[in-house]
Formats: sequence, structure tokens, C-alpha cells
Amino acid sequence: MSKLEYTPVEDIDKIHAELKAGFYSGKLKSIAYRKYQILQLAYLIKDNAKRFEEAFASDLGRPPLESNFFEIGACVGEIYNDYKNVEKWAKPEKAPFSFLWFAMNPTIYKEPKGVVLVISPFNYPMFLSVLPVSSALAAGNTVVLKPSESTPATSALFAELFPKYLDPDLVRVVNGAVPETTRLLDLPWGHILYTGGGKVGKIVAAAAAKHLTPVSLELGGKSPVFIDPKCDLKMTARRLLWGKAANAGQTCVAPDYLIVPRSFQDTLVKALKETYDEFYPDGAGAPGAMSRLVTPQAFARVSGLLKNTKGTIVVGGEMDEATKFIAPTVIKDVKSDDALMSEEIFGPLLPIMPVDSIEEGIAYVNAHDHPLSIYVFSNDKNFKDKIFSSTQSGSAHVNETIIHPGAEGLPFGGIGPSGSGYHTGKYGFDMFTHLRSSISSPSWIDYILSFRFPPYTAAKIARMNKALMPSLPARPKGPPKASSGASWTKWFSFTLALLLAGGLIKAKQIKSLNA
Ligand code: NAD
Repeated sequence: MSKLEYTPVEDIDKIHAELKAGFYSGKLKSIAYRKYQILQLAYLIKDNAKRFEEAFASDLGRPPLESNFFEIGACVGEIYNDYKNVEKWAKPEKAPFSFLWFAMNPTIYKEPKGVVLVISPFNYPMFLSVLPVSSALAAGNTVVLKPSESTPATSALFAELFPKYLDPDLVRVVNGAVPETTRLLDLPWGHILYTGGGKVGKIVAAAAAKHLTPVSLELGGKSPVFIDPKCDLKMTARRLLWGKAANAGQTCVAPDYLIVPRSFQDTLVKALKETYDEFYPDGAGAPGAMSRLVTPQAFARVSGLLKNTKGTIVVGGEMDEATKFIAPTVIKDVKSDDALMSEEIFGPLLPIMPVDSIEEGIAYVNAHDHPLSIYVFSNDKNFKDKIFSSTQSGSAHVNETIIHPGAEGLPFGGIGPSGSGYHTGKYGFDMFTHLRSSISSPSWIDYILSFRFPPYTAAKIARMNKALMPSLPARPKGPPKASSGASWTKWFSFTLALLLAGGLIKAKQIKSLNA
């Protein structure tokens, strides 16, 4: 396994300058060259899948199934998707037809932003590093990747493999911790994508503001789960426990806590206990059963939350400091002022907060930071609609946990304190793309638009307003009625009335013709 060496801080400006030269070399103007680099990136992963699997095991104690499902297979698939679509995405777009403007050929060119910076976290060290690099290249940018120092084996592997597969004029890895990242953040970038915690997100946003660098923040937070007693109980328990235990709960969109009607709490606990026994017949600590906490500090923080809870542990609870192991643990009767509700858990602990009404749960969520995801387990559309329509979150899902960042065609991003900006697939391409508007105006346009030129006269103003001022719909008599939501029965009655009226008029006309 390669040893992680930090990039000397004094080399960082030079790397930035070289990538700037690489950007202006024009290599990535060629879509064929972008595709070549993207495919190289896919092969970097495919050829070295076993080494990455070992690196993830070393960094996170990851079982191979999780590494292949969440990172290796998912990344090769996503990168291949970029490869297949880059021509389509990068094509200039014509603006929608407008009678006023079409003669000037209004066009949107998809331009790269320049040299971009990707700062990634430890928890999915490949997915959150390599996918943005692929998106940046697809959009024609040169890119610095700064992986997490908390996953030394993976970050060292990136440093070893990137120069072997990718053009160093276009892509570089800078390894390090706070001093190295701080130096990177002192420089101007075309765009910064930061994925990680909100505390560092604020440092990144403040540093970016100094250069007016655009920034996307992919942050975390507490993602709640609303449970309806009318859910499919077995399925709910399986998807919840898996979503919480995968990667030892170190998933930005992991279900953070459960909001459950008080009368249903024990039924759910029983189902979770049965699922736990089924998932871990040899115990959750058995080799290959689940991932470990990333660092001794992470273990201390998460185990500290569990030690301080005033709730009751009903499933799991085992811990081993030496191996940074914490079993998937369900805690019931957790109150809103509990230690477990004080911060994003980011570990395999699953508190249940019983409520007396669904409104109580909604009010709790709305009184806190907008979550990255909200989950609803229910087979009742009204229950789901109620949660979706009365809360805000980066994304919202029914009867599923944690897999949506991989869903093709869906943007991945938070809202407010859980982040800003979107990526994966086309949204990743868009994040690193500047939409450069362009018109090309023929000289004969001045026959029509000559009124814009001085001397300004009243006659010109009148002519201009006649040509350009749109006529608006009739002035409204007041705000629309609160329940203006048109139900299909209303539409049906309205259409029927129209048809009848039309029929009556037609009959009258025929009658008068025949008269
Ligand atoms: P981390 O500790 O690996 O840090 C993330 C990055 O920030 C690293 O590259 C690190 O070197 C850098 N960094 C740390 N301190 C810094 C400083 N003072 N100045 C500049 N850079 C600094 O990861 P983390 O922050 O512990 O990641 C976990 C968090 O990330 C969780 O909150 C999780 O929810 C969130 N997350 C969000 C997403 C998403 O897509 N929204 C994905 C994964 C993780």
C-alpha cells in the first residue's frame, strides 16, 4: 500500500500555474480529448479495482460489497455516462424562438470555467472525488483534486495513479490537510466544489468570496425519517437499518433519526431487532460484516454521543475502541434535547424520537436546518404529500434510503445549511460550465431598431413602445382564492359546460341557416 505524502505547500502555486497553462493550451477544446481523458479515468478505476477495495478496507474497514456497490461500480457507470453524453451536453444551444430576437441568432455556448478545485471528504473517497473530476473534464476544465487526509491509503493511491492515466497538464492531485488546503484556497479558481462538513464549508465560502470564485457546497446535516404505521414494516426495517449501517453510518444522506408515532415505537423496534439478527448472524463485529469509524477522533465523537444519551438502547450498543467498531444501535424514547439530537450523528446510531402527532414531527424538522434528505416510509399518498408539502430539504424520498445520489438523471445537492449547487451526471457538467450567451446581429436590424439611437425624440419613444411593450392580461380583481387548486372534477365540469354551450350555439346557427 502506498504511503500518503503531503504535497509541499510551496509547490501549490506552481501546480496552479501549470494547470492554467494546460487550460490555455486548448487541449480540452477538443471533445475527443475530453472523452479520451474521461475514459482513462474510468480505466484508472477498473484496472485498479482490487487496490481500491484494499485501500477502502484499510481506511474505513469497508466490506468489499459496500466498496463495489457505492464506489467502484457506481463510479465507472457514472464516468461512462459522462463519456457517452459529453458531445450532447457541450453542444451550443439555440435560445427558444422569439419573434423579436431570432434574427440575431441568440446562442448559448457551453464554456469551461477554467482551473477548478475539488475538495473531497473521507466518507466516499472515490465517488466524491473522481466523479467531480470527470464532470470538470467533460466541461473542458483543468482540475486540482484535494482528497481527504483521513483516508490516507485511498488518497495515496490517487496520487500514484492519476499521473499514470491522466494528462498532468490537465489534472493534478494535491494531498494534505489544513495548511495545504488553506494555500489552495488562497488562489483564484474558476469554480470550487467543496464536499464536507458545514464548519469547513463556511471557511471555504469565505475564502472563495475573496476572489469572487463561484462555489458549490455539498454539506451534511440531520436527515429525518418519518414513519407511518401504515408502512410495509419488514421492508422499512431492512432499508432503514441497512441505510444506517452502510459505511458505518458515515453517509451524508444516512437516515439520522426516526420520527415515529408514540404508539408505533415498540412495533418498529421489534422489527428492527429481527432485521438486526437477520443481517448479522455472527454479530455486527464479525469480519466483513460492516465498516468501521474512520479515525479514533470519529470513534470518540460518536461513542460520546451514545454515552450521553438519555434514551434507551434497544438494539446493538457494542463498541470496541481498538478497532473503531460501533454496532448499528437503535435508541428509543429520545427527546429533542438529547445528545443524539445535538448534531449530525455520522455514525451507526439510530435514535427514535416518538411524537404524539405528525404535525409535531413536521414542526420539529422545520425549526431546524433544512436537511440534505427527508425520508418517508408509508404506503399512504396523503401521508407522503403532507410531509413533502410542509417541509424543505435537498431531496425527499419514499420507502428508500441513501441510494438516490446514484440515480441517473437526478441532481444531488442540499438547500441552505445542507449545501448549495448540484452535481452528478449532467448537473456536474453544468456546475463546471459557464453559459456564455451570444448574439450576432446583422446590419439590417438597424432598419427596425434605429429608434434606439440618438437623438432621442418623443416620436421614437412612441414607436419603440408600440413595438416592444407587451399587452398584459387583464388586471386581476384581487389575489386568487386560497383553494384555487383545480381538481379534475372541476375541469371535467368546466369542459362539459363548454361542450354543451358550443353544442347549443352550433344548433342555433344551424337552425338560423335553415330558417
Ligand atoms: P473531512 O474531514 O474529510 O474534510 C473534508 C475536506 O475538508 C478534506 O479534504 C479536508 O482536508 C478539508 N478541510 C478540513 N479542515 C479544513 C480547514 N480548516 N480548511 C480547509 N479545508 C479543510 O470530511 P468531513 O468534513 O468530516 O466530512 C463529513 C461531512 O461531510 C459530513 O457532515 C457529511 O454529511 C458531509 N458530506 C456531504 C456530502 C454531500 O454530498 N452533501 C457528501 C459526503 C459528506
